[in-house]
Amino acid sequence: MNEEKETAFAAGIDPATIGPGSQKYKENAAKAENDLAVATLAMKKDPNWIFECCWEECDWQFEDALDLIEHCVQEPNGHVPNHFKNLITATGAQ
Ligand SMILES: [Zn+2]
Repeated sequence: MNEEKETAFAAGIDPATIGPGSQKYKENAAKAENDLAVATLAMKKDPNWIFECCWEECDWQFEDALDLIEHCVQEPNGHVPNHFKNLITATGAQ
């Protein structure tokens, strides 16, 4: 028995109600699976989705979400690396 379950047992909680085998865990997993299925279905119904960057004043648009992510994180000039470069410049940190 792991520490989490020992603590629960000591508190009078049935260890079977927590962790991966519990009913709550199964309910959460089923809900997450359902949410993903609904989102996937929505995208299939309307394949003409446009993904907008919206980072500060940026108005770039992409047909593919992965292209948008790459736009944001690519080295050396993506929004994310630039954000951290600017933080270093602003604080004078090395
Ligand atoms: Zn952008």
